[in-house]
Amino acid sequence: MRPVAVLAPETAGDHLAGLPRHLSEAGFDVCLSPDLYHVAEDDAIWHEIAGIDGEAAFLLPLHPRPIEALLRRHGAWREGRLAVDLRAWEAPGALVAELRARLGTTAGHGSIQRLYGVAGARWYPLVDEGRCTHCGSCFQFCLFGVYQLDDARRVRIAHPDRCKPGCPACSRICPQGALMFPLYEKDPAIAGAPGLFPKPDAAARKMYYARTGLTCPRCGQSGKPAPRPGAPACEECGRAVAPAKGQDEFDALLDGLEELQEGRR
Ligand code: SF4
Ligand code: SF4
Repeated sequence: MRPVAVLAPETAGDHLAGLPRHLSEAGFDVCLSPDLYHVAEDDAIWHEIAGIDGEAAFLLPLHPRPIEALLRRHGAWREGRLAVDLRAWEAPGALVAELRARLGTTAGHGSIQRLYGVAGARWYPLVDEGRCTHCGSCFQFCLFGVYQLDDARRVRIAHPDRCKPGCPACSRICPQGALMFPLYEKDPAIAGAPGLFPKPDAAARKMYYARTGLTCPRCGQSGKPAPRPGAPACEECGRAVAPAKGQDEFDALLDGLEELQEGRR
């Protein structure tokens, strides 16, 4: 059985022009698809993609982690398959040689067929299942119902198209760095680059506690934050922190000392 290469030719860029032909000549069966990240959730093409047998490589202009997560989401990922970031290759020859080395091919040309599906502009998160611990933080944080809990209280992306285009907010509060927004160009960690973790964002963490009212593991407070001007704030949740025992007396002593120095006493 020949290995299969799945790609959307229009995403390959001019430098990879002719890639489907090169793959076919190298012995791959080639499936030309729309850009899979942008294909609707319920499109029939996902059944065809999930039904591909044997060795396969999926080539998209995304980092490999979100490609794998996308295919897992649609039941099309199997161990040994390859997720290939098209942006990482400068010429078809080197890419085809790499795929041949990884998957092997048989002699002769492979077929080229087109898989039809409808793709529109989409923006939504993908979850790296290898990192996610199903803590539920993203579910609690999102105001738009993108996430749901299943019966086993595992987080799943139930309504991806409710996500706000261009916003990767929840990726900044995920404790495991498991959430990826593959089209987010400002931060490769958020886009799912290999080995990177999004930096925790203090403002997003504080927003998380403000929205959920959950107990802060650092200061132990819960509920909606009540503003207390001038009071020190917890670095994790931003809630006003009561002065430590004895702090009031110490502050009063300091105030008295300052007044003495200024001759006000
Ligand atoms: S916040 Fe991160 S680790 Fe927690 S459930 Fe969501 S994706 Fe998983
Ligand atoms: S980016 Fe915002 S709207 Fe989209 S899933 Fe995350 S919290 Fe929800």
